[in-house]
Amino acid sequence: MKIHEYQAKELLKEYNVAVPAGVSATTVDKAVEAAREMKDNGAGLFVVKAQIHAGGRGKGKTKNSGASGVILCDTLEEVREAAESLLGDTLVTVQTGKEGQEVTRIYVTDGVDIEQEFYLGILLDRSKSKNVIMVSTEGGVEIEKVAEETPEKIVKEWVEPGMQLQHNQARHLAYALGFEGDAFKKAVKFIMALYNCYEETDASLVEINPLVLTPGGDVMALDAKMTFDDNALFRHSDIAELRDKSEENPVELEASEYGLNYIKLDGNVGCMVNGAGLAMATMDIIKLSGGEPANFLDVGGSANVETVKNGFRIILEDKNVKAILINIFGGIVRCDRVANGVIEAVKDPEIAEKVQDVPIIVRLQGTNAEEAKEIIDNSDLNVISAVLLKEAAEEVSNVLAA
Ligand code: ADP
Ligand code: MG
Repeated sequence: MKIHEYQAKELLKEYNVAVPAGVSATTVDKAVEAAREMKDNGAGLFVVKAQIHAGGRGKGKTKNSGASGVILCDTLEEVREAAESLLGDTLVTVQTGKEGQEVTRIYVTDGVDIEQEFYLGILLDRSKSKNVIMVSTEGGVEIEKVAEETPEKIVKEWVEPGMQLQHNQARHLAYALGFEGDAFKKAVKFIMALYNCYEETDASLVEINPLVLTPGGDVMALDAKMTFDDNALFRHSDIAELRDKSEENPVELEASEYGLNYIKLDGNVGCMVNGAGLAMATMDIIKLSGGEPANFLDVGGSANVETVKNGFRIILEDKNVKAILINIFGGIVRCDRVANGVIEAVKDPEIAEKVQDVPIIVRLQGTNAEEAKEIIDNSDLNVISAVLLKEAAEEVSNVLAA
């Protein structure tokens, strides 16, 4: 689960990670009011920032007003103009796709003088099964680009599982960024506090880009992106509440409400599979046979009428889908039951109408696979059966070519 920058900064503050002061607002008046209060507390410059889950806001543009998603303001009047230009408009960045994302909330924050910008990210390094902290002097730039073009500019420290980040590791990272004197101590403190926050909140990603050094020697996070492990949210009800469903793909959201694991992709072959590993293999097979998967969909262990129906509903929301491949391994769940479930689901009037022009290929393997094939073959529905995955994939290419 992702959260907004303003939420991440509030959380970071609780963990003693240095961030500039700021207030989030959903109306122009509230934004100006917040800036006025900040001014009374000594702020001279303000930055008004669109709160959407996608990054790249600084270089993004809103569709109507043409404003950037990060606007520097000298006066309260400029804060008003910035808020007016962002709220209600749609921001398009490299990460939103061309549809963009509507801005319903902005963050008014202290404008900070920047001496130098850095990158700092914490995430799980799956290849080492350890959390990794990555830093780079190339702040403000997309880290993927740095990794590709100048990987030597990324310095990493891995944290031993079951152990805390060690002080000497944080010092090594601060040193690699070139910090000196008092700022060095602040950078070490920042890194230690940030790692503690990552660890305690069960985050799966914390990205500070940019981390900045100010001319006064302060070290703070100007941007903050946090993602949490969904499987750990049950023990962080306060964080779970920060979820903003309006930022999520509506179909993926619907799928999660059905308890289905769905990710939309760009191809034309819808897939319905039980088990994530088999779903991955199915997508590979579709590609090998010349198709492109339209989605990843794991219906879980119990492929019954209800889950199959919901699976169809979700897959068929995608207008690119030209064929559907159902690939179920019947271990505990018997294939003949799944076959009956598929037939019942396809007979459902709502689904029947939508699948008229979408051939369905069903591959059932495992307990009672032969009986299942007979059930499918004897039904008078637009459903093609297959026993081997290769056969199923060939059927998919045949129907796509037809
Ligand atoms: P994004 O990554 O979505 O573009 P950022 O928060 O990183 O958004 O902002 C983009 C750039 O705007 C930063 O690299 C920084 O140079 C500048 N910026 C952001 N917040 C502030 C701030 N509070 N004070 C001064 N400059 C800022
Ligand atoms: Mg950024």
